[in-house]
Amino acid sequence: MSSIRKIAIMTSGGDAPGMNAAIRASVRMAISKNLEVVGIIGGYSGILHDQYQPLQLRSVANIIQRGGTILKTARCAEFLKPEYRKIAADKLRAQNIDGIICIGGDGSFRGAHLLNQEQAIKTIGVPGTIDNDIFGTDNTIGFDTAVNTALDAIDRIRDTAASHDRLFIVEVMGRNSGFIAAEVGLAGGAELIFSPEYLFPIDQAVSQIKTAVSKGKMSSIIIAAEGQKSGRAYDLAEAIRKKSGFDARVCILGHIQRGGTPTALDRVLASRLGAGAVEALVNGETNCMIGINGTKLVKVPFEEIYNNKKENSRELIDLAQVLSL
Ligand code: ADP
Repeated sequence: MSSIRKIAIMTSGGDAPGMNAAIRASVRMAISKNLEVVGIIGGYSGILHDQYQPLQLRSVANIIQRGGTILKTARCAEFLKPEYRKIAADKLRAQNIDGIICIGGDGSFRGAHLLNQEQAIKTIGVPGTIDNDIFGTDNTIGFDTAVNTALDAIDRIRDTAASHDRLFIVEVMGRNSGFIAAEVGLAGGAELIFSPEYLFPIDQAVSQIKTAVSKGKMSSIIIAAEGQKSGRAYDLAEAIRKKSGFDARVCILGHIQRGGTPTALDRVLASRLGAGAVEALVNGETNCMIGINGTKLVKVPFEEIYNNKKENSRELIDLAQVLSL
């Protein structure tokens, strides 16, 4: 018999479409197992400020199709300090919470890992980030929706690019990783993809554009992941202009990629991961993420996530380039 009677669910870090579907799945799976469930409002800062909300079956009605997170999310600088993690653990114990499900990105998982290692609070992570940059899971909640949102925008931009014979640089999200850029670039028929992992020399980009023009291509779309600084596409446009005289228009998609109705794929993924996280807690698992590998749910220890880096697919980037000629 499981020692888990009461669990808490929280969302932390950047919001991602499908987080609500994961909350719904965790709540309903927990209640089906006769557990008491509370939501923590506002990520780790919600623990420090006693922001709890009891969750019942009907509390999560009509949220499967909604973007964002009904539990709110936040960044909490205090949680980087061990003394605050101790306060948080004491507060969780005072609420008789036996385990936490943390839906978020790798920063949130670091918090969950430390809370477990230092304070023996049982923690399970559910990967929720549009960036898809978490090692150990093929997909994260929100990635597919973000890719489709960006793709829709690129299809529209292509109409203008083609009508005016223009070069467009479209900047998509992705600070340290170009997963969105790679998928969107290939699916959107981009000529070039700039991703933080595979920096493309400007000279090569210019010569590729010149080759395309010499073959009669009158319009082009370049996809650039934002990298460390949003607005990088303007630097890229300027560098291309200086080297070639080509005038590139810039479109920065920004936060529209974070919101919106989750796709079917994200809702299914979120439902499976959210439910799987509860089963893991009930089965005595802790200090790990529930991810997806192929069609199967997998448990990945938090340490394994930090000690490895998820590789972006160079193959997609190279293929997009070949197919755009
Ligand atoms: P994400 O979870 O989307 O990667 P962040 O990196 O902003 O987002 O992390 C979300 C929150 O997780 C932070 O505001 C902080 O409260 C907590 N966190 C992040 N990194 C750590 C860390 N190294 N130690 C403890 N808590 C952390």
